[in-house]
Amino acid sequence: MGEALVEIKNLKKYFTMKKRLFSREHSYLQAVDDVDLAIMKGETVGLVGESGCGKTTVGRTILRLYEPTDGEIFFSGENIARISQKDMLPYRKRMQIIFQDPYASLDPRLLVKEIISEGMDKSLTKREVQKKVAFLLSKVGLNSEHANRFPHEFSGGQRQRIGIARALAVEPEFIVCDEPISALDVSIQAQVVNMLEELQDDFGLTYLFIAHDISMVKHISDRIAVMYLGKIVEVAESNELYNRSVHPYTQALLSSVPIPDPVEARQSKRIILQGDVPSPIDIPPGCRFRSRCRYAMEICGKETPVLEEIDPGHFVACYLTKK
Ligand code: SF4
Repeated sequence: MGEALVEIKNLKKYFTMKKRLFSREHSYLQAVDDVDLAIMKGETVGLVGESGCGKTTVGRTILRLYEPTDGEIFFSGENIARISQKDMLPYRKRMQIIFQDPYASLDPRLLVKEIISEGMDKSLTKREVQKKVAFLLSKVGLNSEHANRFPHEFSGGQRQRIGIARALAVEPEFIVCDEPISALDVSIQAQVVNMLEELQDDFGLTYLFIAHDISMVKHISDRIAVMYLGKIVEVAESNELYNRSVHPYTQALLSSVPIPDPVEARQSKRIILQGDVPSPIDIPPGCRFRSRCRYAMEICGKETPVLEEIDPGHFVACYLTKK
């Protein structure tokens, strides 16, 4: 494997919650708990899991949009976990985010050219800015005439393209794609994914691609990390994860992916998860997936399984690998 552009070690992000209204007592919502992950230069890592599993919090904490509770965040070898927001400024341009909601993420009062050029180098002349905006619009499949329109004049897919052009305007190295296709029509999703892949090649980008649907990340990801209730439970290369998943949660997610071949689809069995997801404020000891796992054993309630390499590049946190 190449060199890591982004690496998080033992990353924790807990949110403080009041126990009761008007109460001074607090509890902690463990959104991200002891997460390790490295993202190599030029790589796309897919991060998947159900809503509320902490995947968006991981992305935002890496960018320091949320302050980490504990742990390390390395970017290009520098630990940025605890540097001041002022010292973060040079990194802000190198790390960008594409948001899920293309309707809420663009300022409706600004023209497209103003939105895209907002973060550009202030030393650029008006002419240079215009040229750069036109270039970026062409890279995302729009044209220079679109620069003088407002966001409401565009479809959801086009708005997402504008959001991508805005992220590219500061020439980043790393982009957190936070469910960038979830809010789009199915017919548009593949176009946006293909475009992100082309842009990755053209600009040498590195992506953390966050999605709740594992089928969305397969095409674009080199590796996939599966998250459950604040922890990563399995990481492997995309094909390896699809063909040889080990963690019961990953297997359940994969069993829900529609199979295009009707014969194969009839033979496959969907795993329906039973049981409740524990509250992230009151997480029981042991494996967090235990309440929904059909293979749960005694040890699963006592100790938290750690992520271990079971094959080169394939990591799993589950006691089944010890059997
Ligand atoms: Fe299931 Fe135990 Fe594995 Fe957790 S550690 S996923 S409860 S078998």
